Amino acid sequence: MRKVPLKFLTILITLALFLSSVPVASALKTEIIYTGTGGDVSKNYYIRHYSPHTSVTSEVFQAAKKGTPMFTFGNGSRKVIVVAGVHGNELPASIAAVKLINYLSGKRINGTVYVVPFLIPSSTARSSRYWNGKNPNSIANVRGTPSNRIVQVAASRGVCAVGDFHSTRPGGVPGKTSILCTRIPTYESYRMASYMSRYSGSALIPSQVAGKDYPGALEDVCNLAGIPAVTAEVRSPHGSVASGSVTKSYTQMIAFLKYNGII
Ligand SMILES: [Zn+2]
Repeated sequence: MRKVPLKFLTILITLALFLSSVPVASALKTEIIYTGTGGDVSKNYYIRHYSPHTSVTSEVFQAAKKGTPMFTFGNGSRKVIVVAGVHGNELPASIAAVKLINYLSGKRINGTVYVVPFLIPSSTARSSRYWNGKNPNSIANVRGTPSNRIVQVAASRGVCAVGDFHSTRPGGVPGKTSILCTRIPTYESYRMASYMSRYSGSALIPSQVAGKDYPGALEDVCNLAGIPAVTAEVRSPHGSVASGSVTKSYTQMIAFLKYNGII
């Protein structure tokens, strides 16, 4: 038997190594659902350092430069939406959402998940809480705002659950890792929050009627529209990432998907 020349073998191995290192073409189904909000979130130290360092993450960051990006996973009839970055200074939830996108990428799931990791990338880029000088989570009932766009997307696509993920600073309101919901008019909000609270070890903070304590909050506006919604909070200082807060936010997201039978 003839020996394979060493030189030939070396070329083959080099070629194999080269091919395995070529990045795979984009696999993310991406939409820009709102323009004028784009920003380079990788300029934010915490977003850059704590997000998984993958080609999927790079793709998410690139998309966020164009506006509010939304990523779709699965194509089943049961649809849910995960939102983070309503407040651009609440970083753990956005990082957890990027982790979630990495997890869902290429995974078989039931139903459809829409993930919006940065509602206002330009605010997240500089850790700003505001959009045009306003609190984005108090104007979801105002047409033309980024938070109202989420309500529109949820309604027009027949979404059956909205999870809005935030962080709360120590000493703030609510100031603790928790799931917020309302019983009226969409009781499903309370049921979903109860499950998420138990699964993730977060406090359950139910209000009676939507739109009363937090008028214009994304959660409340969705519940008033009959779309079950919850707000999830993890304790972390604004503009920073407390130890364990990303994992906790991620666990809350997993709880949300599990409750809805997606994973
Ligand atoms: Zn918030």
